[in-house]
Amino acid sequence: MIIDCVYKAVRTPMEIQHTMDILNTADILSGDSSVVNLYEKNLCEYFNKKHAIAVSSGTAALHASLVSTIKPGDQVLVPVICVPMTISAVLQAGGIPIFYDCRTDSFLPDLPDLEKKITTSVKVLISVSMWGYRSLDKDTLTLCKKYGITIIEDAAQSAGTLTDLGYDGTIGDIGCFSTHEFKLISTGEGGFILTDSDSYAEKIRSFTHIGFSEPHKSFGYHDGLNYKLSAFQAATGITQLANLDTKIHVRNSKITLWMQLNGNSQLHFMQDQGITRHNGYSLCCLLDELNNITGRELAAKLYENGVNTDTYRYKNTIVCNYPLYKHFYSQPNYTGDNSQDFPNATNLVSKMLVLPCHERVTDGAITQASLSIQRLLKG
Ligand SMILES: *Cc1c(COP(=O)(O)O)cnc(C)c1O
Repeated sequence: MIIDCVYKAVRTPMEIQHTMDILNTADILSGDSSVVNLYEKNLCEYFNKKHAIAVSSGTAALHASLVSTIKPGDQVLVPVICVPMTISAVLQAGGIPIFYDCRTDSFLPDLPDLEKKITTSVKVLISVSMWGYRSLDKDTLTLCKKYGITIIEDAAQSAGTLTDLGYDGTIGDIGCFSTHEFKLISTGEGGFILTDSDSYAEKIRSFTHIGFSEPHKSFGYHDGLNYKLSAFQAATGITQLANLDTKIHVRNSKITLWMQLNGNSQLHFMQDQGITRHNGYSLCCLLDELNNITGRELAAKLYENGVNTDTYRYKNTIVCNYPLYKHFYSQPNYTGDNSQDFPNATNLVSKMLVLPCHERVTDGAITQASLSIQRLLKG
């Protein structure tokens, strides 16, 4: 394999030493450790948020946020381009997913479609910033405010993406992040939640700490699960967070190289209007309409040429097509025809090719892979 989209976090001996030094300061190793507190404090500072709650995964972050914002039976707006974990969290919280379309050339919500789907049963909108690209803008915030809808951002892939509204994951009411190995802040497994709301923070902290009630200083008053992060992961998180900006810088240089070598009439790059700094999670390319090849077909050919992409690995589909969610993708709300129900997402997904740009992708490999891409597009 010349290029593999599967990211294995890079840990330098210095980082490992730094992590061990932090761990040595820990009073205890479990979720109430001084190291976890320090990690949460650093997260608050970096993202300029009032509350940060470290948790055991991104899925746990989403689940705890949903449990704290909806009642069973409430409807939750979810983008049709997202990951199964987003939907799982909704279902586990007893919510009913209502799928919405994106715009023609970005992951921002298609506002007319959104407005059509808003009823009094809709309590939450989840935005998902796929591959580090934004999924919220001012108009979406205004619309949600008008209908009293809480916004939960699934910023698992967009840590460090900066937009004209601030850091992705700090724009809505609650931001959920993953620190799984593949993500930019890699702690192996893990996640965190950001919010400025005292009441959401208290509910979420309680739920993720087995229902511990801060006012009562006791268990047994609230329901909850053990979603705590350990001091081991938090120590890694502290060093990873300190390196985030450097990592983003390196990744953006790879993006620049991909763009230089592939910028021609057949391949376009996803618009990053309103993005001050993309975090370099991945580069989303859009094939020209005139091409007789879909993103998935090109990705399959690239795989034969030693380039593994998210497009090949995850089969480029929209989530309502997964068998498990078919039950929610039914009449009378939907026709069942993807191109009628979600014309923009269906089109976007079919022409999309997602290219890896993490630290292990070398410039030489990008050069070699770009030759393959150009050859395949010609032929
Ligand atoms: C990774 C990811 C998650 C889930 O995070 P885990 O830490 O693996 O549970 C949720 N949403 C998106 C968009 C992700 O990429």
